[in-house]
Amino acid sequence: MTERPLYVTQPQLPPLDEFLPMLEEIWHSRQLTNGGPFHERFEQALCEYLGVPHVCLFTNATIALVTALQALRIGGEVITTPYSFVATSHALLWNGIKPVFVDVDRVTMNLDPAGIEAAITPQTTAILPVHCYGQPCDVAEIERIADTYNLRVIYDAAHAFGVRTPAGSILNHGDLSVLSFHATKVFNTFEGGAIICRDAKTKQRIDQLKNFGFVDEVTVVAPGINGKMSEFNAALGLLQLRHIDRALEVREQVAQRYRAALAGVAGLQCLPAGPSQGRNNAYFPIRVLPRYPLSRDGLYERLQESGIFARRYFYPLISSFPMYRGLPSAAAGHLPLAEQAAREVLCLPMHAELDPGDQQRVIDVLRDPLTR
Ligand SMILES: *Cc1c(COP(=O)(O)O)cnc(C)c1O
Repeated sequence: MTERPLYVTQPQLPPLDEFLPMLEEIWHSRQLTNGGPFHERFEQALCEYLGVPHVCLFTNATIALVTALQALRIGGEVITTPYSFVATSHALLWNGIKPVFVDVDRVTMNLDPAGIEAAITPQTTAILPVHCYGQPCDVAEIERIADTYNLRVIYDAAHAFGVRTPAGSILNHGDLSVLSFHATKVFNTFEGGAIICRDAKTKQRIDQLKNFGFVDEVTVVAPGINGKMSEFNAALGLLQLRHIDRALEVREQVAQRYRAALAGVAGLQCLPAGPSQGRNNAYFPIRVLPRYPLSRDGLYERLQESGIFARRYFYPLISSFPMYRGLPSAAAGHLPLAEQAAREVLCLPMHAELDPGDQQRVIDVLRDPLTR
C-alpha cells in the first residue's frame, strides 16, 4: 500500500464559497490593481490584526526587501545571516550592496549580536537579520548596536507573521520589517508580501517606490519598480485573515504533539518552544545529533521512503552559493554554528491540515527509523 505523501507545508486555503462574492465585486468594479478598494481594506485589516502602524502591500517579499533597502537608501556593506532563504541576500546584491555574513546563535539560529558588533566597518550602513522559523531575534541587543553605531535595521520577517512578544508585535522592531505571503508561508495570498513601517512619510516613499516612482500622473521621483499587490491577492488576504487564528491554533497543537512524542528520542532535539503567547509555529525544525541512528540526510531519505517530504531548511547556506562564496565573510571557518545547523536541521511537516493520524506516521519513523 502506498500512503499519501506528506509535505513539509501545505498551502492554507479558505472555503471557496467565501471567496466567490469577493471575486464578483472585483469583476463588477473593473478595478484590478493599482491600490483598489481591497488593497486599502487589506492594509487596514493587517494593521489592526498585527498591531502595527503602517503596512505597504507588495507582490512578493523579495521585491519588498529590495524596495525596503532602497527606501532607506542603504548602500555599502550590510551585515546579514547565511542561515536563511537565499532571497534575503539576493535583495542586497540587487541593490549593489556587499553582504557581510555573521554566524548565528547556537540555539535560535538567528544572527548572533556579538558577531554583528565584531563585523562593523566604516562601510557598514545596516543590519538585515531574519526571525528564523518565526523565532524572534535578540531585538533589544540589535537595537542597542544599531543605536551605538548609527546603523539601520531591516528585519526579514518572512517567517514571523503574527509573532508577538509581551511588548507587542515583533514587527514593530527595527526601521522596517518585511513579511512574505507566499503560498508556503503561515499566512498566504498565493504570492504576496508587505513592508511594515513606523511613520506615514516612510509609507509614502515606499508606496511611490513600488509604483515606478510615480507621485502623481506626471511626476516620477525615483527609479521605482512594479511591486504592487493586485486586487485578487488583496481580497484573498482579507479572507485568509478570517481563518488565520484557527490555523495558528492547529499549528500549536501539532507542535505540542511533536514535542511530547520526541521528548524521549535520543539524538533528536527540538528547538526551545519560546513564549507560549505569540509564537506562530511557522516551521517545526529538529536537530539530528550524531548519536541518532541515522545521519540527518539518512533520516531525510528514510522519511521520503515513507512518503514524508521533510525539508533541509536551510541547507546549503546562502554563503556557499556561487555568487556569495568568494566573499571573505563567506568562509566556512567564519560561520561554524551556521554550518552545523545546515548539517543537522530538518524541518518536519507542519501545517494546519496535518491531522493526528498523518502526524503519527512521521513520529513513528522518527522513533524507530531502522524498522519498516
Ligand atoms: C520566503 C522567504 C522570502 C521570499 O519571500 P517571497 O514572498 O517568496 O518573495 C524571503 N526571506 C525568507 C526568510 C523567506 O523564507
